[in-house]
Amino acid sequence: MIFCKGISSLNTVLNSKEFRNKSLGFVPTMGALHQGHLSLIRKAKAENDFVVCSIFVNPTQFNNPEDLKLYPRTLDKDAMLLAAENCDILFAPEADEMYPDGLKKESADDYGYFIHVLEGAHRPGHFDGVVTIVRRLFELVNPNKVYFGQKDYQQCLVVRELINRMNANLSFVMCPVVREEDGLAMSSRNVRLSEAERKASLVLSQALFQLSNSWEENSWVDALQASRDLIQNNPLVKLDYLVVCDPNSLKELDSFQPNAIALVAALCGSTRLIDNVIMS
Ligand code: AMP
Repeated sequence: MIFCKGISSLNTVLNSKEFRNKSLGFVPTMGALHQGHLSLIRKAKAENDFVVCSIFVNPTQFNNPEDLKLYPRTLDKDAMLLAAENCDILFAPEADEMYPDGLKKESADDYGYFIHVLEGAHRPGHFDGVVTIVRRLFELVNPNKVYFGQKDYQQCLVVRELINRMNANLSFVMCPVVREEDGLAMSSRNVRLSEAERKASLVLSQALFQLSNSWEENSWVDALQASRDLIQNNPLVKLDYLVVCDPNSLKELDSFQPNAIALVAALCGSTRLIDNVIMS
């Protein structure tokens, strides 16, 4: 695996004979890699001639400075994991190269209804930071296919809209949520959970699975309430939202529809976790 610390080394490598005119899959990450990230790398490896993974903890998408400070950074271990997956290029730039004019961000305000709800409402400015860095990375890497996780479902909608607006010849691939054996969605932030919080965090996936198992016209309202109760009855978990939405607009359902998505966000101790399940 080739390690590119900066933009000029990335350019040199991407323009070399080895990589020029080959299909390129790209997996952007913030590092502290786990099996969820690696599932994206594997999918990208299977579908492209070569794969670039970026690791950059993007300051402009954090609305909470404490969260940015505590975000785990494990670059050496990440590089080993990526090499073991035969990832071809790791791009790990510094903030001053990604933001040469300071930490300015573009606005995603006009992306549509879905940008203002859920994470958009709870983390003001978050998606502005996401579109700013994702656009910059896409322009630098110039991939054919990009891979994102359903774990961050709303982010998937945002990036798909960004790609539409960029008019780029770029395929978007959404990959399924990878979970721990007990159901907790893998996340770089899970390492911050205490033992008790880790146990308590299970109610999130339990609530989602319980809800999707009883996703029926006659009982969906009660099922949603029962799932909210399950989370709210746990003293270590503070529910931000558990909603069922239309999967395209993210409008909350006011009547039953079979194709829907349930999304949850909650604080476990001081760690904020998100998860979702697509109803089928
Ligand atoms: P992050 O490093 O958290 O920004 O995540 C980088 C990419 O990995 C994003 O597209 C995430 O949606 C994806 N990802 C994170 N956790 C998981 C997971 N448990 N399963 C699948 N993809 C994931």
